[in-house]
Amino acid sequence: MRIVIPGGGIAGLFAALVVKDLRPDANVVVIESENKLGGLLSELVHEGVSFDTGVHTFYETGFPEIDSLLFSITPDGGWNKLSGLKRDVGGIFQEGQLNLGNSYLNFLNLPNDQLGVLQESFLENFFSSRELNLSNAYVYLESKFGPDLVNKGLSEYITKFTGADPRTISTSVTSILPLSRVNLFGEVEHGARISDKEWNSRISYPNQRSLPDFLIPSRSAYYPSNYGTKLYIDALVAQLKSLGVIFKTNAKVVSLSKSILITDKGDEIEFDLCLWAVHPMVLTRLISEPFEGFSKSDLVPMNTAIVSYLLKNEPKMSDLYYAYDSTPGHLTHRFSSPVNFCLKSKVGDLFRFTNEVVYHQELTENQIKERSSQELIQMGIFESQDIEACYVSRVPGGYPNLNAKASSSLEKYLRESLGMLPSTILAIGIMSEPNLFFQNDVLVNLYNKLQKFFT
Ligand SMILES: Cc1cc2nc3c(=O)[nH]c(=O)nc-3n(C[C@H](O)[C@H](O)[C@H](O)COP(=O)(O)OP(=O)(O)OC[C@H]3O[C@@H](n4cnc5c(N)ncnc54)[C@H](O)[C@@H]3O)c2cc1C
Repeated sequence: MRIVIPGGGIAGLFAALVVKDLRPDANVVVIESENKLGGLLSELVHEGVSFDTGVHTFYETGFPEIDSLLFSITPDGGWNKLSGLKRDVGGIFQEGQLNLGNSYLNFLNLPNDQLGVLQESFLENFFSSRELNLSNAYVYLESKFGPDLVNKGLSEYITKFTGADPRTISTSVTSILPLSRVNLFGEVEHGARISDKEWNSRISYPNQRSLPDFLIPSRSAYYPSNYGTKLYIDALVAQLKSLGVIFKTNAKVVSLSKSILITDKGDEIEFDLCLWAVHPMVLTRLISEPFEGFSKSDLVPMNTAIVSYLLKNEPKMSDLYYAYDSTPGHLTHRFSSPVNFCLKSKVGDLFRFTNEVVYHQELTENQIKERSSQELIQMGIFESQDIEACYVSRVPGGYPNLNAKASSSLEKYLRESLGMLPSTILAIGIMSEPNLFFQNDVLVNLYNKLQKFFT
């Protein structure tokens, strides 16, 4: 069987591994438009120093057949296993303070009378209806947390992240951590309802570092012992090559029919199955009419860039792996100190540090650098004299480019276009279905699709 996989990110590479596991005799070709493999899990190299694209660890999916394949590959130097309370140590910078115990929006510092009103409003909503309204991000959060919490901070957070009115934004934005639950009840009040699954999906345990045993995650995360998600990609590619998988890099797919694919290098590849692991909008542009359901002004421009630093001193964020920033107007979305999950991430005496920024207007690289550094200095994470080097890399695609009034029609268009694909083309990878963004979901989704296809 001839299988072609456009897209050499983690989805395309892992799909090749799954195919070779399920059909060892298949001929597999991976086509990647860049000269390096790994996509978002590759590396950003600045003056010879490699940086990750923000913070990425490899989470166990909880499906033994997927995890055993995923972790059958060992990066050079081995793995750091991040387990229990150390799996995912996140915080949030909110109202001038870095909360080290929790990455959800915190309302517990409010004066008692204000906190009481918010708690009552939450409880009233929680006990009157548990139905979630999926029409847009604002009403979704309103149905999940009640109107007062939305107006008190959640709505402002969406605007900070997307640059747009939450009523015009699709609900997918609410899957980012600080919008998924709230820190609203102390341990005692929380304790009474702690075994209620619905409650736990909305209310966070106030201090994530002192979770009761049954809330401690049973699945671990892994990060290479030496720095860089790229080490995992290198090991995966080496394994695939040893299994006979062919790689064509620097080759962009420019034409696709149900059995032939053509690249800009003139390769014509016939296939029995194409696993499309590039953004689905590229696929729909190749195989069907482009989406005309909105004009450019309906789009919410969300641009993502990674600002990578080398710092002379350790960032002042305790042992956090990463923290979100909720300060209105800031570009900073999430910043990360890899030395806290990978001791070998230091470059000599210097500390690697990355800041994921999201911006909504055109900015030059220098403007991004300046804004990012100012914000981090203002937050007290480092001082200007700590900066040895600072680099900017724009991330094409980046965080989902959520569009305003057209978001549901775009989803419908994607569903319809992808639904009409010939049976020889399967879309996999990031955004290949609504709400498919996180690495884990991407891997589980593609594994299930492949298993279904081959059985
Ligand atoms: C800033 C940021 C932070 C994130 N943080 C997290 C996180 O903390 N946890 C988490 O679980 N997930 C996170 N994600 C999501 C996670 O990175 C993705 O789910 C995952 O990496 C997607 O892999 P992929 O292979 O589907 O896509 P990609 O990595 O984007 O790979 C697509 C590949 O296709 C190639 N390509 C593009 N066009 C063509 C063409 N025409 N022909 C051939 N090849 C082409 C690209 O060069 C690329 O290599 C984050 C994403 C971003 C942007």
